[in-house]
Amino acid sequence: MQATFVWFIIGTTCIVQSSTAYFGYKKRQQHIWPRKFKECGGKMQSPIALSTSKSIALSLPALEMIGFHDVLPHPITLTNNGHSVALNVVKNSTHHRLPYIFGAILNENQQYELEGLHFHWGNKNNRGSEHVLNDMRYSMEMHIIHRNIAYSNMADASAHEDGLVVLGIFFQVQESDNEMINPILKHLPSIQWINTEVILNTSVILNSFIPKNTETYYTYRGSLTTPPCSETITWVIFSTPVSISFKQMTRFRMLSNGEDKLGDNYRKLQNIGKRKVYVRNVAASKIDLKKYKLDIGSAFWSIERIDWVRVIIDLSNKIQKNDVEQR
Ligand SMILES: [Zn+2]
Repeated sequence: MQATFVWFIIGTTCIVQSSTAYFGYKKRQQHIWPRKFKECGGKMQSPIALSTSKSIALSLPALEMIGFHDVLPHPITLTNNGHSVALNVVKNSTHHRLPYIFGAILNENQQYELEGLHFHWGNKNNRGSEHVLNDMRYSMEMHIIHRNIAYSNMADASAHEDGLVVLGIFFQVQESDNEMINPILKHLPSIQWINTEVILNTSVILNSFIPKNTETYYTYRGSLTTPPCSETITWVIFSTPVSISFKQMTRFRMLSNGEDKLGDNYRKLQNIGKRKVYVRNVAASKIDLKKYKLDIGSAFWSIERIDWVRVIIDLSNKIQKNDVEQR
């Protein structure tokens, strides 16, 4: 777990440590991530291609997001760590609770508190997101990292399979500016160079970065998409994108990674393997809800166990490409 610990130092305080865990996004560089970081070659890696037809539709509980309308407590830092732009909140800086999430497919009575967020984007508008949804690669993807409050820090949480939840949010380019995201974007020129950081003096509200419709989400078990690629992430990815203008996207593309323009910082798609991807569909059929009621509340993995019957059905119908799960 040594490497994991290093990553989280980068993720939260970043500047000094970032050079110790160098990794690049060029094809040949991504190819050798597993040499240095063994878990990057694992079987539960992220990102993956999401598709409605290949996901198991369930009438899952909504994802509850508490405190997402509140102003984030200061100090908030925004950092160019050479891999991304990361926003971090400092803990113990206030008596107010940080935003947290529960519900969805997460264990009952467990809450996951905000740790920070960062972005992955393309040098061109037709690429940038890490996950692909129904063959669509969006221009940008934001990751909001949450730690299970049962664990006291990120290093501890990353060692447990129920330790971390990452919310994935797609950004779709359009003509007009999305004013809501300016409180972060306006600070990007201040962190043009690698290993620079700015303390934000603006009010940041998480909800400004959340899609209007959060009803539909995809969820699966995966990994960090950067080394050390720890396989302890429950992913929750909203299907509805947030908008961003062409002009706003260029602000990200003016950043430097020390050698080049910072961008195209997305990992190549990983094999889904034997994993199952669930999609929340409130209309999936009330029968599903009754059938899965006992399992949803207890644990993510209990759904996995219950679901083996569905997998057999799925396999037997694969040749006909008949999607049994969607009924
Ligand atoms: Zn990320």
